[in-house]
Amino acid sequence: MEVDVLIVGAGPAGSTTARYCAGKDSRVLLIDRRREIGYPVQCGEFLPAPKEMYSMFPRTMDLEELFRIDSEHVKGVSEFVDMVSPRGRRYRCSFEGMTLDRRQFDKHLVKLATERGAEVRTETAFLSMKDGLAQTTMGEIRAKVIVGADGPKSRTARAAGLKGPDMCYPAITGQAEGDFEPAIKMYFGSIAPGGYAWIIPKKDSANVGLGVDPRLHKGSLRPLFDRFLASRLLSAKDVTMGFVPQSGPVSRTVAGKVMLVGDAAGHVMATNGGGIPLAMVAGRIAGQAIGAHLKDGAPLEQYESKWRHVLGKPLDISLWTRKLGDMFFPSDRRMEFAMMALGERGLERAIRCSRVFYFL
Ligand SMILES: Cc1cc2nc3c(=O)[nH]c(=O)nc-3n(C[C@H](O)[C@H](O)[C@H](O)COP(=O)(O)OP(=O)(O)OC[C@H]3O[C@@H](n4cnc5c(N)ncnc54)[C@H](O)[C@@H]3O)c2cc1C
Repeated sequence: MEVDVLIVGAGPAGSTTARYCAGKDSRVLLIDRRREIGYPVQCGEFLPAPKEMYSMFPRTMDLEELFRIDSEHVKGVSEFVDMVSPRGRRYRCSFEGMTLDRRQFDKHLVKLATERGAEVRTETAFLSMKDGLAQTTMGEIRAKVIVGADGPKSRTARAAGLKGPDMCYPAITGQAEGDFEPAIKMYFGSIAPGGYAWIIPKKDSANVGLGVDPRLHKGSLRPLFDRFLASRLLSAKDVTMGFVPQSGPVSRTVAGKVMLVGDAAGHVMATNGGGIPLAMVAGRIAGQAIGAHLKDGAPLEQYESKWRHVLGKPLDISLWTRKLGDMFFPSDRRMEFAMMALGERGLERAIRCSRVFYFL
């Protein structure tokens, strides 16, 4: 088979890339190894409001176009983030956002791509590359451009000799029933060593989960998750596991005709694990760069310089803050002290990818 663009992975990064490079003059194929797009949901499903994204990533533009979210995909809204210390002290900051129905949202993003002419094949996995040809479970595919949007453990990255994220935190998530106030809850300390546990409200339910630093917690997450649920008097169904890149953007996202986007490229905020907005912002930049490449022969490297210009600095600050946090995470006492020292202002700056202290 021969296409102009092969995109591996139909998550937010891959489908957004497809949406911005598909058209009547280019054949774009989006493949995903899953049977159902967007399912199982391996995500907290929280998406910041565009005004928050502009404040975190001031160089982004036209976010309203990218994030025009139908109300049917929004299952809850929140106005605050409450960060709870190991001893239960609450630090509240204003932060608006919504809880998505990611099972449907991912399908919606794929539909936007197919409306522009992209073709989609599910239950189709990328396996390797041989002589520049992609080897997949549907056979060999020749493409002018190959996009690795296949998540944190990207096989496409490895096949192209690119490095995917160095470090990923394991995370577990599920759905809990109940009434929850419109505030994201983040619980820090030994309840989720090196990471945090969360409650992200929906109407009549919540997405609950936790992620940990694998250097501080070895073995299964299930006992930790059960302990967290018991401490909040909750139970969860549809429990799944996933990995969150925590080492910042990878050093190179373009090699020859292969590009990496989204989790595969480490496009995740290291202080909170959020990656949906970045996957989509980078996906749009990738799609536009591919369009210019196919039309005028513009170098694909333009993608790398553009996403670094727009997202690079906040992502670097976020990584730096996470590394600073590593000094405090191993001990509840130190964590309690650090949260008290930072206070609501400092903690808010950390989750917004800003410097936690003005002088650092
Ligand atoms: C537990 C958890 C909670 C999270 N909570 C949030 C949150 O609340 N808010 C937020 O913004 N971010 C959150 N994230 C991060 C967010 O989910 C990711 O950053 C986002 O999904 C990245 O999109 P992506 O398209 O790059 O990758 P993905 O959404 O992972 O999509 C990758 C796709 O590639 C496919 N694929 C993989 N390998 C192959 C292959 N070899 N061949 C074909 N297809 C393949 C997969 O099936 C998948 O569909 C969370 C992550 C986890 C694990």
